[in-house]
Amino acid sequence: MLLKKSIEDVDVGGKKILLRADFNVPLDQGKVRDDARIKAVLPTIQSLLSREARLVLASHLGRPKGQPQPDLQMDPVASRLSELLGRTVLKLDQVVGPTVTKAINEMKNGDLLLLENLRFEKGEESNDESFARQLAEPVDLFVNDAFGTAHRAHASTVGVADYIPAVAGLLMKNEIEELSRCLENPLRPLTAILGGAKVSDKINVMRQFLQLADHLLVGGGMANTFLVARGYDLGDSFYEKELVEEAAAIISESEKSGCRLVLPLDVVVTKELKSGSASKTVEPAKVSGAWKAVDIGAESVKNFGEYIGRSAMIVWNGPLGVFEIPPFDHGTRLTAQKVAESDAYSVVGGGDLVAALEFLNLAEDINFISTGGGATLEFWEGKELPGIRALQDKT
Ligand code: ADP
Ligand code: MG
Repeated sequence: MLLKKSIEDVDVGGKKILLRADFNVPLDQGKVRDDARIKAVLPTIQSLLSREARLVLASHLGRPKGQPQPDLQMDPVASRLSELLGRTVLKLDQVVGPTVTKAINEMKNGDLLLLENLRFEKGEESNDESFARQLAEPVDLFVNDAFGTAHRAHASTVGVADYIPAVAGLLMKNEIEELSRCLENPLRPLTAILGGAKVSDKINVMRQFLQLADHLLVGGGMANTFLVARGYDLGDSFYEKELVEEAAAIISESEKSGCRLVLPLDVVVTKELKSGSASKTVEPAKVSGAWKAVDIGAESVKNFGEYIGRSAMIVWNGPLGVFEIPPFDHGTRLTAQKVAESDAYSVVGGGDLVAALEFLNLAEDINFISTGGGATLEFWEGKELPGIRALQDKT
């Protein structure tokens, strides 16, 4: 693992620090609906404030595409953050410029403020040099805690690091350590579980875990593509036609690898993707006509459970069925319960599965939940993420 400097390795007292956070939270009528991402950055914020830093927080919110957009201003984040910290967080209406510089120069040790939405500026996503320089100009140190955005080379994740020293926040440090461990030093047997909609999103992660893991359990929409590759009809199920050949290639690669590829033994089918619609559980060979496979069946749950029970480490990305529409959350729920009960060290990749686990009240029993979606997948693919590369190496 390439070790990066973190806030634990540098002096921060009295320093003006730009802290890039991932406050890209869901909003509902001008309020933060889910504050998990804000809470995830609190340890870094609190550590820096207690060490007498002057903290300038910045994040993107939504997709304003370089234009100010009133409903995507950072005010709801400032209110929620104020509540969580028990003190008022000053929010500025600008990202860069003289007002920002003046406000930062007036800060005292232990003060904090929040900049406006970074993506109101065109230079953010294009990683424009002069915008990055403007961001860096009023501060002494850059701390990146936005793991969820680390796969993007933007001005506030990569560009600023050309002008001031850049180190990881505690969340970033933790993400790097936990996710690297799955790749470099996994406990064995290691079981990878992959689900979600598309094979195309996860093909490289799949190949990675086929190399690394002892078992690879596949569910969700992506399993349908594999079942079609095995020669089943699958009726009206969602699958990716253009990836059937690739799935067949992965099946034959798995036969030569040391990893056992495990597909569903049975599936829950329905004609209508609607809560309360008629459904039944059948073997993959029995799906036809207007039926759609929308979850893994009881035999599959039992089979997956046996692999989980024998594992020392579990990595999991993607739900195993259409969990948003009960009862098609059963496969995900029962498998999550099995993971939660097992003694194995469990690491879950972000995105919809995390939402599913929170919805099912099982998130607390997972050892590590990544805050990244795309970033976690790219990390597990073995790519060096630009936002991590930009941080100083630990010497
Ligand atoms: P994650 O964000 O956890 O990586 P994805 O974004 O890849 O997961 O996929 C999540 C979506 O996959 C969910 O919206 C879920 O409804 C859908 N899904 C799961 N199983 C199926 C299935 N059998 N058919 C269609 N969609 C499915
Ligand atoms: Mg998703």
